[in-house]
Amino acid sequence: MSVISRMAKAISRQKQWVCSAVAALVLPLIMTGCDSKDESQQPTYVVAMEATFPPYEFYKGGEIAGIDVDILKEIGRRKGVNFKLEDMAFDSIITAVQTGKVDLVVSGLTVTQDRQRMVDFTRPYSGARQVLIAPKNAPIYSKEDLAKLRLGVQHGSSGDVFVTENIREPERFTNGALAVSAMNAGKLDAVVLDNAPAENHVAGSPELTIQPTALVEEEYAMAVRKGNTALLNMLNAALIDLEADGTLKAIIDRHMRENKPENAQVADTAFGRLIDDFKTDFIKNDRWKYLAEGFLVTIEIAVAAALVGIALGFLIAVIRSTADLTGRLKVLDWLCRLYLTVVRGTPVVVQLLIIYFVIFGAVDISKVLVAIVAFGLNSGAYVAEIIRSGIMSVDRGQMEAGRSLGLSYGTTMRSVVLPQALKNVLPALGNEFIVLLKETSICGYIALQDLTKGGDIIRSQTYDAFLPLLGVALIYLTMVVLLSHLLKKFELHLKKNER
Ligand code: GLN
Repeated sequence: MSVISRMAKAISRQKQWVCSAVAALVLPLIMTGCDSKDESQQPTYVVAMEATFPPYEFYKGGEIAGIDVDILKEIGRRKGVNFKLEDMAFDSIITAVQTGKVDLVVSGLTVTQDRQRMVDFTRPYSGARQVLIAPKNAPIYSKEDLAKLRLGVQHGSSGDVFVTENIREPERFTNGALAVSAMNAGKLDAVVLDNAPAENHVAGSPELTIQPTALVEEEYAMAVRKGNTALLNMLNAALIDLEADGTLKAIIDRHMRENKPENAQVADTAFGRLIDDFKTDFIKNDRWKYLAEGFLVTIEIAVAAALVGIALGFLIAVIRSTADLTGRLKVLDWLCRLYLTVVRGTPVVVQLLIIYFVIFGAVDISKVLVAIVAFGLNSGAYVAEIIRSGIMSVDRGQMEAGRSLGLSYGTTMRSVVLPQALKNVLPALGNEFIVLLKETSICGYIALQDLTKGGDIIRSQTYDAFLPLLGVALIYLTMVVLLSHLLKKFELHLKKNER
């Protein structure tokens, strides 16, 4: 009994601490979740873009910059409105505007008939074409040759649609930069991409070139939700203005001129190259900050989701074991089982997308909060089953002993059964936290800049897959080793208490 009462005391001592930690983590999130729209008197529109598309939208010193961003700034200035940029996966962009998650898409978006059925396009503001990037030493490909090549595209892009319908089934990547990295690593023969980002990629990779013949001509326009004529008219009027006084052309020309990443210097030795890559990947332009900031976001999400998971898991485990042991709480038990079935029966990435696009579809809420809710709900299901197995592993005599001493069911559960159950399942719970921490790496799906996404952004700027991935892996590994170490210490501490 002494172990248990000591644990109960320890838990109640921790309670205050845990409460303040939860408040410190969650309150700012709720507040950032609620701020946004009326920061000033001007109306604010949320814009979706996929920011690895230079020179239209790309990260520069931690901020999104580019042609589209400058056009929006100019429209905002002239029309007295604000635009809030949301970086997200390109294949989610049309869904985002359809579901009202964002107000408009400005992302080097090609006007296509299929898309015209889903959204309303403004007048075009820029021409473009799909081109073929290939190694310098490759022959000039004919259309017949292309059907035999390993072709890479950006998933959901007009290039993807063109290749799929006219050439062959391509290999699809989340953005063009990743496809180019894959070609640099010898995994593809050619990449089909829009001409302007293609030029940027080729300038960054000395052994690549753009083949002379374009595959198809296109036009870029902005897109709004079907029927949002007020916004559409405002944008069209602004675009006409920008075109008429030459501002549009000036913005595009300036960015096209600057559309060259820093010249890649190639060192002679492999070691020299590694050092150069290290400098380009992490030191230049303070790129290490993408990892540092991503690391903090990952920690924030993992810790807060673990707390949500524990609270939820505890509650469910107690409800389910009470129903098992006493036959009460039948309806709650049924609801809990339904929740467990749904959560454990669907992939967490699907849950994250549903929570982001459907449940919080129309609300302007912080993505970090969305991720905490999604991972917390998911983890809760696993924690619940772990704790329930712990409760079931405690000898039934413990409950009977507690009751016969005159303690109520609740008190016996809380002070006798649960502490012992927890101690038994500590290794399994630790394991669940480790899984949770690593699972948060899918946050990039909703374009949240966690650690993994931080590495992706670096890769999209430097075209080096090796070091950014290695760096990201090392940081996760360090976190997991530390966490395992702490859990081991805690377990030992509890064991000592037993003697
Ligand atoms: N222009 C292409 C499309 O609309 C790619 C755009 C992008 O990747 N941002 O599909």
